[in-house]
Amino acid sequence: MLLVYSSRYRVDIGPHVFPTQKYDLIAARVGGPFVEPSPATWDELALVHTPEYLSKMRDGSMTDDDIAQLELPWSREMVDAFRWMTGGTIQAARIACGWELGSQKSEVRSTSDFKLLTSDFRVVVHIGGGLHHAFPSHGEGFCPFNDVAVAARVLQQGGVERIAVVDLDVHHGNGTAFIFESDPRVFTFSMHQQHNYPMWKPRSSLDIGLPDGTGDETFIRELERGLPKVLAHRPQCVFYLAGADPYEDDQLGGLRLTREGLRRRDRFVIDTVRSADVPLVIVLAGGYARRVDDTVAIHAATIDEASRSR
Ligand SMILES: [Zn+2]
Repeated sequence: MLLVYSSRYRVDIGPHVFPTQKYDLIAARVGGPFVEPSPATWDELALVHTPEYLSKMRDGSMTDDDIAQLELPWSREMVDAFRWMTGGTIQAARIACGWELGSQKSEVRSTSDFKLLTSDFRVVVHIGGGLHHAFPSHGEGFCPFNDVAVAARVLQQGGVERIAVVDLDVHHGNGTAFIFESDPRVFTFSMHQQHNYPMWKPRSSLDIGLPDGTGDETFIRELERGLPKVLAHRPQCVFYLAGADPYEDDQLGGLRLTREGLRRRDRFVIDTVRSADVPLVIVLAGGYARRVDDTVAIHAATIDEASRSR
């Protein structure tokens, strides 16, 4: 397993339910070495987003409605931080697919780091990303750019023909579903709390909308039912959005999974994808527990599970 992360994701968005400090806290907790990404270029972002939207993001000409929908204050620093984070998901995908082993862009601090980087990594965890509410022409729900969609388009440009997205954040992956709705090469799977944001849920290839208060056992059972359908698509790369917000003490989620249930979820996804010998890119997505420590511990447990995989 390899970790991608940058301290450049840190951005001050004022008092907010979205704990942007979680990335640094997770990185400090799990320790390095980390592969340091470069920011997504505007051309890469344009593989998914419209020129009009990107120019508004670039020059700050967002309307009040745009800002209200994005639910983040605009600043150049905010845009840069999320460009960097999108670059992190691209980098993670490239490494998982074996394209960028030991890249000079990576921050190699020691000989052992170099050895680590030049061996074969098929599971890469990005301590960031999962911005699944971003659409081509607008951002919403704290998601300015759809990092997974951009990385998937980059892989497609490089000749990867079949990709899957497994989105287990508590919220439906509306932006991702919309972007790939008419692209049969990308199988999108979203399992989420049905009666929660977003109101409008464009169709994924497979949607499982769960009732409020679902709990561990039903969640795992539904996952066991859904995931084989994803692998039947025979993906050459799987992106897994391991949202921490199905957690029982999350402020924005109501699925009531325990920390142990979330760990079982992660283990099942990682084991299933790796048993099929498919490269796996894990991104964090949401997490709004009352105690930030809980969110950090849930994401760290995902990384721990990934580190045990082949
Ligand atoms: Zn979420």
